[in-house]
Parts: sequence; C-alpha cells; structure tokens
Amino acid sequence: MAMKHDTESSRTYPCEACGGELHFDIATQLLKCQHCGNTHELVEVKGDVRERDLREALKLVRDGKVSHTANFLTDEKEVVCQNCGGHTTFTGSLTADKCPYCATPIQRDDVHAAPERLPVDAVLPFSIDDEAAGELIEKWINGRWFAPSEFKTYGRTGSFKSVYMAYFTYDANTSTRYRGQRGVTRTRTVGHGDNRRTETYIEWYPAAGVVSNSFDDIPVLANTGFEKKRIDKLEPWPTETAKPYSAEYAAGHLARTYDNDVEECLDEATTRMEDGIRSTIRQDIGGSQQRINHMDISWREMGYKHILLPLWLLTVIYDQRPFQVYMNGVTGEIHGARPYSKVKIAAAIALAVVLLIVIIVAVSVSGGGSG
Ligand SMILES: [Zn+2]
Ligand SMILES: [Zn+2]
Repeated sequence: MAMKHDTESSRTYPCEACGGELHFDIATQLLKCQHCGNTHELVEVKGDVRERDLREALKLVRDGKVSHTANFLTDEKEVVCQNCGGHTTFTGSLTADKCPYCATPIQRDDVHAAPERLPVDAVLPFSIDDEAAGELIEKWINGRWFAPSEFKTYGRTGSFKSVYMAYFTYDANTSTRYRGQRGVTRTRTVGHGDNRRTETYIEWYPAAGVVSNSFDDIPVLANTGFEKKRIDKLEPWPTETAKPYSAEYAAGHLARTYDNDVEECLDEATTRMEDGIRSTIRQDIGGSQQRINHMDISWREMGYKHILLPLWLLTVIYDQRPFQVYMNGVTGEIHGARPYSKVKIAAAIALAVVLLIVIIVAVSVSGGGSG
C-alpha cells in the first residue's frame, strides 16, 4: 500500500517507480525502495543542528505543553511492549515481530499513534550496515568462551535490530566563584642523633578565585531498559557529524522514544559538569594538593539538543531472561551481557578431570618403571 509522508522538513514519498515503501539504506546512505530496489536522494534539512534554550524547554515540560513539531512524520506510530514497557516508534510497516529489548513477540494491539513529545533536533545516521553489523556480532559471539548455543542461533530465537536511542545533550557556560585551600609540600628535619631524619608535610594556604567553563554536547541517555554502564562504554559518539533531524534517516529502522525527559536527564549532565568545574578549580588553586570549601556556580547560556544515536541491538533469551549486546552503529564498538552455558562449562571441567587422570596414570606408570 502506498504511503505518503509529507511534513515541512521531510518529504518521504513512496517510491516514484512502484509506490513501494522507502527505507534508509545504510550502505548507500540513500532511501531505497523495499519493493523494486530503486534509490532516492534524501531531502537534506538545511542549516546546522539547532540548539534549544534549556530553560524554555523545562518550562514547556513542567506546564505539559510539549507538542509535536514539523519534523515528525504524520504516520508515526508507537509500539509499547507489554512485557518490558519499552516504547518504540516506527513509520510505515513495522519491521520487527519481536520487541527489540526483551525479544517478546509484539501483539497487534500494542501499536498506537505516537504521543506528544519534545521534538528531535538531530540524528547521527547509521554507517554500519546490516551485513557489516552481522559480521561484527558473529565475531564477538565466537570470541566468547562457553557462550550458550542460543547466542549462535540468535537469528531464529532472538532479535537483532537497528534502533535509534534517545539522548539529550547539554551545553552550558558557567562562571564559578570558589573558596578553598592550596596544599604545598614542605620538608623538615626532625629528631636527634641517630633518629635524625627529614620528613615531608603539607602546609595549607587559603585560596579563592573565579573560573569559567564551557561545556559542549554532554550526552545523557534518555532511555531506561538498557544497561547504562555498558551503553556508556559505547562512547565516544561522533556527535559533531550529526545531521539536523529528518525522519527519513529513521525510515525502516526503529527508534526508542525517550523515557526520561529533558529535566530528568539534566541531573546527570549537571553532575558531570560540576566534576569538570571542580577539576578546573583544582588547576586554578595549584600546589600539590587542593581543598574546595565552597563553590558558587552561575549557569549561563544553557542549551540542549534532543538527538537520536544509532545502536545495533542483539537480544537473546537465555534461562528465561533477556541478555542484551550493544553495538555503536557508527564505530562498531561492542559491549554486552553474555550468559555462560552451564552444560559447556561442565563438559570442559569433565574433560580437564579426564586429562588430569590420564597424566597422573602416565606419570605413575613411568615412575614405577624406573624405580
Ligand atoms: Zn519501488
Ligand atoms: Zn519488551
């Protein structure tokens, strides 16, 4: 069935040749018809990635006045998994029959029209295509010792999908007045006679000043349901190559909508920025050790972007629970949870025991012969 996507910033028509559905083809970075294979140029969104004023956005979120803007496709739909609660948006026909996060089959009535959310400002398009992603994941699996065979048959039992994750990135300029102390290492001679020796000690001096910091694109994952520690290891994301958002980049791929909004993610960004400010203050204080007693931070020009980052997500069910493996869709960096096969480990231990017995017998036989 022919669909027509028509929004101000993105116009994804059905294939001109046959009316088939167009998907963003990673290998060619073009829109490709799923029916006849014809390719079409993406309509580039002009200009730079836009940064938004954080304070304005916080007000909109608090007042419940978030609304869709032009960069959403008109037929965008959302799937909410009944097992794990994960929200996924897609356009056109759904290309997944299992939830990408927990591999539970998706029911027809899980699909709804997408609710109102903060608009997406930027997207980092996938550059690792299906074939390359498949090879990388096979290599990763084959490098895991004692991985259960469920991992090798993920094509049938699990889920391996391209999913855009939701992130908020934050920018800020700060000016911080501080009071603290500078510790300087000194040496002194103590004791008498044979006990005479030099020792080092720290002498503390008062320190105060003002430091400035500038933060750019501090990324915070806005999704729950992922193992955050592992996802964070996929950094760095080359966000400098992100494009102004066009829904065409997500055509044929899944996108997870944010679970934590721009205000909820701000805490983590603030913590990271405060760590940065502390380290600038330590440099400013100098000396061999520093103490910070007081900081008064003025936050200026706070901005944010809502950005989609590309993830190849492998989910395998083992022992009745999902294991997720993550691949950065640009750099190919992989981090994941992996179960250990009890059967394979037991077999390996049994083999080791047999070998040990063989060696003991061999040694005792040869020892008996010489004596
Ligand atoms: Zn076509
Ligand atoms: Zn799920």
